[in-house]
Amino acid sequence: MATGVIQFKTEEEIELMRAAGQLLARAHGEVAALVREGATTRQLDRRAEEFIRDNGATPSFKGYNNFPYSLCLSPNSVVVHGFATDEPLKGGDILSVDCGVFLNGYHADSAYTYPIGEVSPEVRQLLKETEASLYKGIEQAISGNRVGDISFAIQNHVAPKGYGVVRELVGHGVGAKLHEKPEVPNYGKRGSGPLLQTGMTLAIEPMVTLGKKDVVQEKDGWTIRTRDKKPAAHFEHTVVVRKDKAEILTSFSYIEKALQ
Ligand code: MG
Ligand code: MG
Repeated sequence: MATGVIQFKTEEEIELMRAAGQLLARAHGEVAALVREGATTRQLDRRAEEFIRDNGATPSFKGYNNFPYSLCLSPNSVVVHGFATDEPLKGGDILSVDCGVFLNGYHADSAYTYPIGEVSPEVRQLLKETEASLYKGIEQAISGNRVGDISFAIQNHVAPKGYGVVRELVGHGVGAKLHEKPEVPNYGKRGSGPLLQTGMTLAIEPMVTLGKKDVVQEKDGWTIRTRDKKPAAHFEHTVVVRKDKAEILTSFSYIEKALQ
């Protein structure tokens, strides 16, 4: 997936990534305003692409290894990389919306999982704890730590609650390329893996399941689903490793505003 060496960013480059992250946050807000029972994921995909292009940017995912959409739209047991469809969303569903924006030479990457209407208490808890695990991971994205500290913090938040942590898909460096070194697994040992240093930009993205951790890929070559068909949640931010506290370049604030 990611090739090459870790790309450290200058403050000038981080400024450009911050702009990409801000636009991505707003694109998520545009999508959030449309997420409801009866909406189709194709409508969400169209809105995201239109908004991103209207703002002088490109959707990072569309055409990436021939991926056909601007969003990855992953309902229920789909973990990631789902396609847009004309099937209306139903109450009780959940939907992961993953989006990337390419602006002025840099990517930002972020994902959020929505409840559609009323979802069961156990699914609502899955969403809450997966999002919480993202912030546990981000807390560890400080210089002097190692990638394994992020991985452990995520796993240690969700695994004791009985959730599955997907192994086959991982977070990653992000910058001029959508997927850069290092890989950022959502499971691992404290103090292991590459050293984190100021200027590393990472997409941290826990993928957590209500059942077992095993996943399968569908025949379309993209869609990743849980083997046991139980629901999966996915939350992602793009962050910069800093000395005392990671800086989050993306934001869920526009989503949260739209959901109020
Ligand atoms: Mg993503
Ligand atoms: Mg990503």
